Amino acid sequence: MIPFLDLKAQYSQIKPEIDAAVARVVSSGHFVLGPEVTAFERRFADYCGTAHCRAVNSGTSALHLALLAAGVGPGDEVITVSMTFVATTAAILYSGARPVFVDVDPVTWTMDPGLIEAAMTPRTKAILPVHLHGLMADMDPIMAIARRHGLIVIEDAAQAHGAEYRGRRAGSIGDLGCFSFYPGKNLGAFGEGGALVTDRIEFARRVSLLRDWGQEAKYDHAIPGYNYRMDEIQSAVLNVKLDHIERWTEARRSLAKRYDALLADLPLARPRPPAHARHVYHVYAVRSERRDEALALLRDAGIGAGIHYPVPVHLQRAYAELRYRAGDLPVTEMLARDFLSLPIYPELLPEQAGEVVATLRRATGLQPGVAVSTRAEHPQSVLT
Ligand SMILES: *Cc1c(COP(=O)(O)O)cnc(C)c1O
Repeated sequence: MIPFLDLKAQYSQIKPEIDAAVARVVSSGHFVLGPEVTAFERRFADYCGTAHCRAVNSGTSALHLALLAAGVGPGDEVITVSMTFVATTAAILYSGARPVFVDVDPVTWTMDPGLIEAAMTPRTKAILPVHLHGLMADMDPIMAIARRHGLIVIEDAAQAHGAEYRGRRAGSIGDLGCFSFYPGKNLGAFGEGGALVTDRIEFARRVSLLRDWGQEAKYDHAIPGYNYRMDEIQSAVLNVKLDHIERWTEARRSLAKRYDALLADLPLARPRPPAHARHVYHVYAVRSERRDEALALLRDAGIGAGIHYPVPVHLQRAYAELRYRAGDLPVTEMLARDFLSLPIYPELLPEQAGEVVATLRRATGLQPGVAVSTRAEHPQSVLT
């Protein structure tokens, strides 16, 4: 049995610290937006390399408030990707704006900057790239396009805590960066949580108001707001885990290297991180033409493989009103059909990674040295 994720293993490593931190909050009697939250915000801003951080109650709330703080609203369009969890799109719709999808790059699986300008209209207000699976989108061209056209850039960094692009951390390149601390994320709370980071104090101030009913002082509501506040217990847990995140990230990266080596002789394509990227492997994904078969066999063998995500957002029933059709985003749709995610988390043992790959070999019937050209190794052919 190799689960997809093992949160209990992580807890057992840091139990004394966590238990003490939670007990401290419980006996303080202060449960929402208190000293633990303030300390976490300071530390997480430093971690991301930004001036400010505001903690909220989920990654979705972070995205929603980032859009509102940036002035995105009804009548606006936001260019984003469909190769993501639905929350990215949902947050855009919460703001009243319309999501406009562009396809992803077949090598990195993140937003293809070459498609952005063609998707722009006079209503375009923001670009919202997603750092999928822990690999940052190609931010230099995205920022250049945004600056040229006066657009806001909001990074969905929910899967990319500590990821880097040319030495800069996820969340620190766009105007605002959004994180999730859902338990299974690389930095996970013991419940729901999220945060925004930014260098712009006016955005941070606006988020402070919006997350707490628009209150400037108790019962003095300057603007309509939301109840998106973070709990003290969640911040206390995150303050403990922040001390370990770099070690955990390095463990993920070394497991990914191990998977890379074990899979090197198999024709299973993977996203290729550019040399300047620090991929933090929230997900380790491989493509297989016999994906469904492989997934079933892995699961039969007790290995928790998954697909993140099997149906792209633009083809979900919930978003039919956006009027996208199969074929509109060919790379996204092809990847959704043929990739699967292997277990990867800091506590996974290298031998277990070996067992996963051995099972995958049996499952796909692939043997070392079989020369099969794969589509991702020839990115130019993926659309044909
Ligand atoms: C998890 C996730 C979110 C949403 O975060 P929640 O904390 O679950 O609301 C948004 N975008 C992406 C890419 C995610 O993976």
